[in-house]
Amino acid sequence: MNNSSQQPGRSSPSRIDLHPRDPGYYYDPHVEAGLHGKIKLSPRVEHHCKCGGKTPYQIFENPDVEPVWCPCRSYQTKIRQINRFIVESGIPAPFRYKFIDDFHESYDGKPIPGADQLKQHLRTLTEKARSREASSQPNASTDSVPPLRGYFLWGKPGAGKTYFSYIALNELIFYSVRPGKFISLSKEFFQTLRFAIEEKSPLHGQSETYINILCKVPFLVIDDFGVQRNTEWELEMLYNLVDTRYANRRFTMITTNQDIESIKDLADGRLYSRFLEMCYTIHIQAPDYREHFKKEYEI
Ligand SMILES: [Zn+2]
Repeated sequence: MNNSSQQPGRSSPSRIDLHPRDPGYYYDPHVEAGLHGKIKLSPRVEHHCKCGGKTPYQIFENPDVEPVWCPCRSYQTKIRQINRFIVESGIPAPFRYKFIDDFHESYDGKPIPGADQLKQHLRTLTEKARSREASSQPNASTDSVPPLRGYFLWGKPGAGKTYFSYIALNELIFYSVRPGKFISLSKEFFQTLRFAIEEKSPLHGQSETYINILCKVPFLVIDDFGVQRNTEWELEMLYNLVDTRYANRRFTMITTNQDIESIKDLADGRLYSRFLEMCYTIHIQAPDYREHFKKEYEI
């Protein structure tokens, strides 16, 4: 598609053959300004770039010939999309751009129990996201590629479930160039939804739009499942969300501090049975990571 007012008459001069493990871009964690590093063109794409990385990524070979798109353009577009998806994901700012290398298996030289298995799950998930992306057609919809099985993570508070989900979501967005959302089932979350349902509310009508987005987004993390008050309305809303995602085989990750037994009976067991069908269930027994991360991120 052509978004520029100066529309080149010819397509890119060449396609870039990339190594299967090279998506054409990478994350450089070096922070120059702000909180995060930067997603950059991979060296092979950079090598073929003739526009100097400047928008609108066109090459003017000579004044008598129409400009052509630079080979870097499609990768620059992906980088812009990834940045937008990460910012709009709902992941809190300090945890955006956290990737698998940020998941540590040890602390102060001592291994963290269970962390190596969790990291292996992350590796597997990332590999699947990479290979799905590599095998999908350009511009293919999420529904045309095989589904990714989600995760149901349960365990004590501070065991690293939420941190795991931040990294998983960043990785999925990064490699698939598709949007993902992180929601926390806090009191405020339901209050906002309820408020938006009221007719007099300035947000009236936005509640359904938002739920629709959550139903359709390719990747969804539902954090802190179980803190909801379990009113009929809340449970029905949650069941409809989970069931719609289940029916459309969309990746869903749930974290909960609750014992799995206490979730089994919610909504007549319908939620739990959906979770089992669409997710790997992992009991996280690691000790409290929160003390560790407190120093680094002050959460
Ligand atoms: Zn270029």
